[in-house]
Amino acid sequence: RVRVVLFTADLRVHDHPPLRAALDASDAVVPLFVRDTGIAANGFLVPNREAFLADCLRDLDAGLRQRGGRLVVRYGDVAEEVAKVVTETDACAVHLAGDVSAYARRREDRLRTALHGIGCEVVVHDAVVTCVPPGAVTPAARDHFAVFTPYHRQWARQHTRPVGRAPRAVTVPDGVGSEPVPERSSVPGVSPGLAEGGERAGRARLTAWLRSGIAAYEDRHDDMAGDATSRLSPDLHFGTVSPVEAVQRSRSAGGPGAEAFVRQLAWRDFHHQVLAARPAASHADYRTRHDQWRSERSARREIEAWRQGCTGYPVVDAAMRQLRHEGWMHNRGRLLAASFLTKTLYVDWRVGARHFLDLLVDGDISNNQMNWQWAAGTGTDSRPNRVLNPVTQGKRYDPDGAYVRRWVPELAGLSGSAVHEPWKLTGKDRAAYDYPDPLIELPDALDRFRQARGLR
Ligand code: FAD
Repeated sequence: RVRVVLFTADLRVHDHPPLRAALDASDAVVPLFVRDTGIAANGFLVPNREAFLADCLRDLDAGLRQRGGRLVVRYGDVAEEVAKVVTETDACAVHLAGDVSAYARRREDRLRTALHGIGCEVVVHDAVVTCVPPGAVTPAARDHFAVFTPYHRQWARQHTRPVGRAPRAVTVPDGVGSEPVPERSSVPGVSPGLAEGGERAGRARLTAWLRSGIAAYEDRHDDMAGDATSRLSPDLHFGTVSPVEAVQRSRSAGGPGAEAFVRQLAWRDFHHQVLAARPAASHADYRTRHDQWRSERSARREIEAWRQGCTGYPVVDAAMRQLRHEGWMHNRGRLLAASFLTKTLYVDWRVGARHFLDLLVDGDISNNQMNWQWAAGTGTDSRPNRVLNPVTQGKRYDPDGAYVRRWVPELAGLSGSAVHEPWKLTGKDRAAYDYPDPLIELPDALDRFRQARGLR
């Protein structure tokens, strides 16, 4: 009997346990993607991710066609659409990847309910979206690790499943109707520098990274101008690159760069396991509750300046403009922008997390919300009251100022690290730069922070 493979955050044919299991058990499978109206309704499908997703779906369709199959696309409520396909094809099972967000869990429950009545089994596969399944690594007597270092120690000792090859042939039963596969060009409002999506592009990025980027990762990952990180985050978010494969190929590459890179992939799993154990952490403070944030209304002017990249702190502004232009931001930029909003302007982390989710092509509930909580000191950071100074951080991670000049062209005439402190210019020199004064003086901001946190 036919089996359905429901693709979600795993838009690839390589190393795909649900597809492999369905093909091993049946002669015919329906590779299905449902454009879920539930996601559209909750505002999560923003232009950058919708455009990248369109690339991914086209490429997945192409990958399946190369093997004699095709992708079936449906629009509507995910449980209802899957049930319709199951009924049309008399399928006996639906295979899908396990995932952790509240939405993903609800989807799994709803599928079970919808399919139970029509005699169809739901088979959930682990280690597809993450490398180590959430819940597989736990401390004694607790349900999850709240601190990264001990999690990582145990994570690194885990045995990972072997990487699966792409199938040679995929046979789809005749007559299963599909909506057209969406196209990126039909999505308005996309960031001009958005990367290309799809498994082919993702695998090429991974291979190029292993060949010529990973070796220097340990030394260069914080070099903001050097842009020396993998840029694989959208591929990992949409699953066009398998995290298991990324870990195993990186380990084979070996060396301190690979070790540092694999550690970052463990951070990704770490945040997934926190959210799996504490789903409310997507919106509620995870560890330490802070309730003295300035209200959105009282900080409206500052929030808008932060969103537009006009805070007067050049490295923060550069990062925020990179986000708008590319739908992606360097990790150090994310840390600085988040710390600035939450610990310098003292605005609630949820305001910033929402803005990031509006633009990030890799915008991910686990990684975004838990990193925002980390930066705000409400999450898993063991030093929740550290404050990143945007001037000293700018000088350290963008020592020549090249990152700032790239994204803040108004300051392109300033050479070297002087670009991090344009307010030091006086008179006519200052007037020559059409760039705002700092929104807030750092010592004042630090005072407010200490007061709000009860640190004196
Ligand atoms: P690399 O440095 O090459 O790292 C490789 C991979 O490891 C990344 O692709 C990512 O999957 C994972 N990774 C690296 N750092 C982290 C981290 N701190 N937490 C979890 N996983 C990590 N990452 C997202 O994928 N989606 C998000 O929505 C997201 N929001 C963030 C918000 C804030 C405030 C901060 C501080 C970080 C956020 N990150 C997020 C984590 C990190 O910044 C990005 O994963 C990284 O910058 C992506 O670039 P890269 O692929 O070149 O990373």
